[in-house]
Amino acid sequence: MEIAENTVVSFDYTLQNDAGETLDSSADRAPLDYLHGHGNIVPGLEKAMAGKAVGDSFTAKIPPEEGYGERHDALEQAVPRSAFEGIDKIEPGMMFQAETPNGPAPVTVTAVAEDTVTVDGNHALAGETLHFDVTVREVRAASAEEIEHGHVHGPDGHAH
Ligand code: ZN
Repeated sequence: MEIAENTVVSFDYTLQNDAGETLDSSADRAPLDYLHGHGNIVPGLEKAMAGKAVGDSFTAKIPPEEGYGERHDALEQAVPRSAFEGIDKIEPGMMFQAETPNGPAPVTVTAVAEDTVTVDGNHALAGETLHFDVTVREVRAASAEEIEHGHVHGPDGHAH
């Protein structure tokens, strides 16, 4: 079976940046499952997956606009320390939900000063060209329920 709209795909992958550093890999865990055609994975990788079959291995180089988007410097800003009331220790790398006009959004602390905390709303991989090394492990037809929900359900059904 080829990867097409409404198939469930299991794949192994390694993700590297332009410098050849490994950012993420399924090597130490189970292959990743996703429902094809529903935006479950970044657009560039979903495009590269189309038409592949079990056992296919390939590499895909994905520019930021087809990956996690470009970096927007405006999404990095200093907020008063008082916005983190009740949190004793704030360190770079910590993630919080920020209230924004578009609803809650994840931000990462990038710097901490005496009175301000700098947070970055960019995705950690924004602006990165993604180099995927992929092997397709399994392809099956999605169930009607999976298609309706827009995501994969595990072998034991789902908990929602
Ligand atoms: Zn579901």
